[in-house]
Amino acid sequence: MEFEAWWLVLFPVFFALGWLAARIDIKHVLADSKSLPQAYFKGLNFLLNEQTDKAVEVYVDLARNHAETIELQFALGHLFRRKGEIERAIRMHQKLLERAELKPEQRHAAQYELGLDFMKAGLFDRAEELFESLEGTELARGALRHLLDIYQQEKEWKRAIEVAQQLRDTSHTYQHEIAEFYCELANHAAIKSQPKEARQFLQQALAEHRKCVRANLILGDLEVAEQNWMEAIDAWQKIESQDHRYLPMVAKRLLDIYDRLGKIEEGTALVRGYLATYPELDMLELVHDRILQYEGSESAANFLSEELKRSPSILGLIKLLDSQAVGAQPERKSELDLMKKLVQDNTRSLAMYHCGRCGFKARQYFWHCPACNEWESFLPSRGQTRPN
Ligand SMILES: [Zn+2]
Repeated sequence: MEFEAWWLVLFPVFFALGWLAARIDIKHVLADSKSLPQAYFKGLNFLLNEQTDKAVEVYVDLARNHAETIELQFALGHLFRRKGEIERAIRMHQKLLERAELKPEQRHAAQYELGLDFMKAGLFDRAEELFESLEGTELARGALRHLLDIYQQEKEWKRAIEVAQQLRDTSHTYQHEIAEFYCELANHAAIKSQPKEARQFLQQALAEHRKCVRANLILGDLEVAEQNWMEAIDAWQKIESQDHRYLPMVAKRLLDIYDRLGKIEEGTALVRGYLATYPELDMLELVHDRILQYEGSESAANFLSEELKRSPSILGLIKLLDSQAVGAQPERKSELDLMKKLVQDNTRSLAMYHCGRCGFKARQYFWHCPACNEWESFLPSRGQTRPN
């Protein structure tokens, strides 16, 4: 197509039209603001002076006569909740709900907000009722997510499974979470001495998520409780193909079984094999302690220094200093202790478990992060700060 120069004439015309449109808009806005009732500014003033109580009263009165301030009430309620003034947020949203003229979507939004208020106040039963009432509405999915939070906090794992199944889609399959919920149920059944139920829950956990390490961990414990030694070994060894980083968690338990069966060398060979394939600090400690126990301190120290050459690590160095201090002359021992203290002081955070999601650190391993509530977010080896 040929370019026609006369089109250029149109550009100034378009600009002029745009300018005019903007002016009309501004005039419209100015006209609107002039019609805002005086009480609006009075309320705003209370709010700016942090006299939120008085502001609430003013805005509630305003909302009675001016339907357009409904959105303002929502914003205020949200503000109160964020500030931790839960009672005021609840009052605001309850007053909103009393209004007969609310459109259905506004009523749903008020129920949703009130649900969040109750949740923050720890009144889970009331929050649950409100979120459940939103089924089939445009806010149903958000309400389900909050219900999932409530059921997890209340440890109602069966209901949590139902909700997670409803929520699952291609972007979030909830496999990890559902498998963890089954593991929680299995643990609970095991505590109540119901091994049959516990096993069924573990099967469901593995059916949901075949790489659920925790299910095999618990299964091994169940087998041990019934003295099914070989079955326990089988369950725990499966963890290698699920996620080898979790092996150090079961290695000690595996060794206990081998020792009980009188297969001491077989046990040692197994954990040494794991260490050769997956050099992890916890496995290194375990093999070292075993050599110390069965072969003496010299062999153990030699083993450690060889391992450190192969796979250098700060935590391994601490262990080596520790091991050399055992049985050393007093002067040498105090030197080694000082070196160990210096290294430890500078690497304290390494000897902890980390949440891969929020960075929370702890001496203990958690399946459910106490800081960010994520499942299986703790890295299974101490000192790790990111997944392998
Ligand atoms: Zn976390």
